[in-house]
Amino acid sequence: MANNDDQFKKVVSHAKEYGFIFGSSEIYDGLSAVYDYAQNGVLLKNNIRNYWWTAMVQLHQNIVGIDAAILMHPTTWKASGHVDAFNDPLIDNKDSKKRFRADVLIEDYAEKLYQKAQKEIVKARKRFGESFDEEQYKTTNPRVVGYLAKQKEVLERMARSLEAEDLEDVKALIEELEIADPDTGSKNWTDVRQFNLMFGTQIGASADSSTQVYLRPETAQGIFVNYLNVQKSGRMRIPFGIAQTGKAFRNEIVARQFIFRMREFEQMEMQFFVRPGEELKWYETWKENRLKWHMSLGMGEENYRFHDHEKMAHYANAATDIEFNFPFGFKELEGIHSRTDFDLKAHEEHSGKKLQYFDPELGENYTPYVVETSIGLDRMFLAVLSNSLVNETLEDGSTRVVLKLPSVLAPTKVAVLPLVKKDGLPDVAQEIIDILKWDMTVAYDEKDAVGRRYRRQDALGTPFCITVDHQTIEDRTVTLRHRDSMKQDRVSIDEVSAIIGKEIAIKNWLTA
Ligand code: ATP
Repeated sequence: MANNDDQFKKVVSHAKEYGFIFGSSEIYDGLSAVYDYAQNGVLLKNNIRNYWWTAMVQLHQNIVGIDAAILMHPTTWKASGHVDAFNDPLIDNKDSKKRFRADVLIEDYAEKLYQKAQKEIVKARKRFGESFDEEQYKTTNPRVVGYLAKQKEVLERMARSLEAEDLEDVKALIEELEIADPDTGSKNWTDVRQFNLMFGTQIGASADSSTQVYLRPETAQGIFVNYLNVQKSGRMRIPFGIAQTGKAFRNEIVARQFIFRMREFEQMEMQFFVRPGEELKWYETWKENRLKWHMSLGMGEENYRFHDHEKMAHYANAATDIEFNFPFGFKELEGIHSRTDFDLKAHEEHSGKKLQYFDPELGENYTPYVVETSIGLDRMFLAVLSNSLVNETLEDGSTRVVLKLPSVLAPTKVAVLPLVKKDGLPDVAQEIIDILKWDMTVAYDEKDAVGRRYRRQDALGTPFCITVDHQTIEDRTVTLRHRDSMKQDRVSIDEVSAIIGKEIAIKNWLTA
């Protein structure tokens, strides 16, 4: 995968051309950072959601799912800290009039230092070959040590300043590092200010009687306020989890990078309720568990890394991100947080209701601690799409664009193609579709030469094509073509369901 702007542009245009993602209300020139999922995109998105739900809910007897409303009582957001503290530090460039997140400018600077260190390491590995000891090199080579130390120092200072709400120092840091507007090179910055990211709206008909409410900025609070309802009605015993997927809304200051940062997006979250004191053990367990889930898709171990937080959110005592190597570099894909009892305690205080659990083994009441895993469905979609899009040169020198999606996630699993539109071949094709369509999404295509039809399916990420030809009429065999290898097998119609079924079975992917 080319790690550059070029690859990113290709992903964005491919997503539109092949019916994965369209800009929202495009005929009116769109709405910034809001997107619609198109006919293929919605299938891929549903498959990712289902892969997550199966792994998190169906495979755990002590995790259940809910679907809470987007609108919640406004006190929820007072208790959770979002009204007072869900802010991003923003800074404007006085020359370009562009607005940036101050923390992102600094993080990007730190990432460049990290990349410089990586470059040195790659060069050294080439030079030393087999005998290269990366750990030793990292700790002894003065240039690498320098870059990494500087990276750490920058991130730590930013974390300290943000923690202390010292926005002057955040600006001072940007100036000291001589960070410039990435588009124009200007270093003429305004002061750093805080900006609340919640979208507010009104409930009620008249201005006098209306109540200010918010579109939820995270799905988690719907789980916290329902924790006791679920625990009691589901007779859940700690440790147990509540999972949910759903829309969240944030008035992001800088919303570039396609579906990476949207104003309306979807989260897949799971809150795991544990005994106080056991949270860090569970935090480690879920870190490991979630990384394993990502690895199961086979998108390259080297494309993931943990980034442990220096600056904790106000509710956490340990936090890490699983970062993915997007075309624009390593960025957060999923967050794993040990949220302590912050949320439940805050809701107890604001509501006056007890949210405690009676632990029958200990014989005592306590407010549970919470470990959460939170992944953006849209970000996962982008990770999968950008990782899969390949421009391949074939042996005969020709090229093809192929979306090497993990077949378990592919929007359409198989396309059935009659070689010609006559001689009864379309009827047999339909017969095959009628067998398969109960278990998977199937496409039919009878237009153009079969080679071109294969290319169309390659670009859509369809892992299998079944071609029906004249021999099919005689012996009920078809050609089964595999997307990645382009290998073609002659198989009986009766076998295809089992062959494809095995390749796309969630079980086989999650247990591989
Ligand atoms: P970032 O630092 O990138 O703004 P965050 O740390 O605020 O993200 P969390 O609050 O931890 O994000 O949300 C959990 C997950 O939700 C993130 O890992 C990400 O995948 C997803 N997410 C958050 N904000 C957005 C957004 N604006 N658009 C798409 N996905 C998002």
